[in-house]
Amino acid sequence: MIEKFNIFANGDEVSARIVREVREKMRSAGAEYCEEEEEADLIFCIGGDGALLRLLRQYDFPQAPIVGINTGHLGFFQEIPVDGIDEFISMLQHGDYHIQENSALSADICTEGGLKKITAINEIVIRGEGERLMHLDMSIGENYISRFSGDGILICTPAGSTAYNYSLGGVIVDPEVNMLQVTPIAPVNNSAYRSFTSGIIVPTNKTIEILPAKDEDRFVVVIEDGRIVARDDVKKVTVRVAERKAKIVRFSNYNFWSKVKDKIL
Ligand code: NAP
Ligand code: MN
Repeated sequence: MIEKFNIFANGDEVSARIVREVREKMRSAGAEYCEEEEEADLIFCIGGDGALLRLLRQYDFPQAPIVGINTGHLGFFQEIPVDGIDEFISMLQHGDYHIQENSALSADICTEGGLKKITAINEIVIRGEGERLMHLDMSIGENYISRFSGDGILICTPAGSTAYNYSLGGVIVDPEVNMLQVTPIAPVNNSAYRSFTSGIIVPTNKTIEILPAKDEDRFVVVIEDGRIVARDDVKKVTVRVAERKAKIVRFSNYNFWSKVKDKIL
């Protein structure tokens, strides 16, 4: 039984209407709205996947589980369609759901100005700003692997495998599999440069370290779930599985592969 709930929403009109609807319906079901997400037993996320990414950032990967109502375009993380709110509130209040714990990534970005720590649910991308070829040295778990020349390197979680990673030819991963995926972005292979061209799967107990290979390569940008978090003067980026997870409410009819079929394939 959910007693206290919080709502995070997109700024659009449809989402604003759904916020009012959810507030009223949850009140009628005996639950109380609370401003502080730390006090909530459940957080509604109204919008698309982008709204969920913003929620995780703003609420700093909250303790309470999140349930998504999809008013967005794709809504891979979202569980409830806008016309299914009544049914799902009843399922919620009867406890007919489970919580899917999605692994996140954390990265330490070492820059001229100091150390910055970030957490991402989809992916972390280290890339150039576009005009020149980047050279990055990559190590996995203390072992130097190779020098990469190309646009950049993406590291994603299973949950993020269906996003940017998939557009790059990366593998779709069932979130029940624990791993990190390293995906090259436009790798160069010729007589001057050799780069890895396939994805690399790394177990969750290993770290991935990426260093600009030469002084001029320090002008990279680091992107966390589609948002630039560091640029220029990056000395080293170390990526690992985060301690925190994104807890997403899933109902009994949830099936990752039917979502893949409906929304991607
Ligand atoms: P956006 O530019 O509005 O969204 C990009 C698209 O990615 C949206 O359709 C979004 O769904 C979808 N998406 C987000 N997470 C997903 C996931 N885990 N699985 C499948 N699709 C997902 O920006 P945004 O909504 O803030 O999303 C940021 C994400 O965009 C980044 O994390 C990155 O993965 C992705 N991206 C993709 C490319 C590419 O494919 N070439 C380039 C840059 C960024 P909604 O419509 O429901 O929001
Ligand atoms: Mn979006």
